[in-house]
Amino acid sequence: MRENKQNLPVLIVGQGLAGTILAHTLEQASVNYWVIDAPQAYFTSSYAAGGIFNPVTGRKLEKSWLVDELFSYLFPFYSALEKKLGVSFFHPMPLFRPFANKEMKTWLLDRKEQIHNAYLSWEEAGVWVEKAGWLDVESLLICSKQYFQSKNVIQEITLDPVNDLEFTSEGVFFQGQTFACVIFCEGFHAQQHNPYFGHLNFLPAKGELMKIKSTEPSEDYILNKNGFLLPLGNQEFKVGATYRWDDFSNQASISAQIDLRAKLETFGIQHFEELNMSTGVRPATQDRRPLVGFHPHLPLAIFNGFGSKGVSLSPYFSQEWLREWKGEGEINSEASIRRFYHLFST
Ligand SMILES: Cc1cc2nc3c(=O)[nH]c(=O)nc-3n(C[C@H](O)[C@H](O)[C@H](O)COP(=O)(O)OP(=O)(O)OC[C@H]3O[C@@H](n4cnc5c(N)ncnc54)[C@H](O)[C@@H]3O)c2cc1C
Repeated sequence: MRENKQNLPVLIVGQGLAGTILAHTLEQASVNYWVIDAPQAYFTSSYAAGGIFNPVTGRKLEKSWLVDELFSYLFPFYSALEKKLGVSFFHPMPLFRPFANKEMKTWLLDRKEQIHNAYLSWEEAGVWVEKAGWLDVESLLICSKQYFQSKNVIQEITLDPVNDLEFTSEGVFFQGQTFACVIFCEGFHAQQHNPYFGHLNFLPAKGELMKIKSTEPSEDYILNKNGFLLPLGNQEFKVGATYRWDDFSNQASISAQIDLRAKLETFGIQHFEELNMSTGVRPATQDRRPLVGFHPHLPLAIFNGFGSKGVSLSPYFSQEWLREWKGEGEINSEASIRRFYHLFST
């Protein structure tokens, strides 16, 4: 266990998906925690997310990084969380990837034996991916917030990391209370506003989604063809997603709308009603690995950098964070911020 003789609470900054998952994990392990979150108007990634989890990635049908570890943990984790909160938000659902064209089909079939097939079943028009589905991130965040409110452990406030924290011999002093550690889960805002971790290798990516109503697509599976069509029920679907690295405003853009309409055309959907757009900035990193761990010199920590895979990465890495906090092992070296310790001055 890191030095915490008086069993002081830890302070989680940010109640997006990352902070929420970490708070539930700490509670499960009987670690005292507090959460602060900026008012709703603050721009997040989580509220825009499609929430899809998918063990297969890329045109070559490769297994996602650490997929076996992540996916064996993800199912029991979210199912238990649904029971705890009494709300349904975890929706396992098959995902279909049609072959893009004849050439791609031949290319993939030629390599079928080399492709890891544990999550795939092949058919004439494409491949079915098992163990996929989606998490209703918005529902999870809203009911978790109500849960934290009922326990009196959350406050709506924006932390100024420079002026609001005071380091003492016991930990970090904030608003009349000493915390053993402050854990930053600020999403892409960390790069702009956090003087302790903002210099890490963030590469934020703005993304937009369109919600539509249509009677044309199947509601039984997620369609994945250079974008996705996710059935929400009641003939509503999310169409996504766009990527941009040059604009971090929370305005929906015309160019994204055009892109998403083009995706619908590729999916063969002709008649639909556009309901709304959602916009967020993914906390992505240059090496596509999370930023999890502890400041080398101060009682501060980070749980961030989950990019476009927060749903599948954050449960597993909340356990990894906790394991290192308890002194029981080190966080996976590809995700640990130890890989950047040379960038921290003493
Ligand atoms: C269009 C789009 C589609 C996506 N689709 C998927 C998908 O299908 N599957 C998937 O797994 N992921 C998806 N993602 C990515 C997913 O949203 C992220 O991985 C995840 O939500 C990141 O969560 P986070 O908590 O790190 O960041 P955020 O959601 O940005 O949360 C950060 C929180 O910290 C708070 N905060 C920041 N600074 C402060 C401060 N100083 N004081 C107090 N509070 C603060 C913010 O208000 C916010 O609540 C998508 C993202 C986008 C944009």
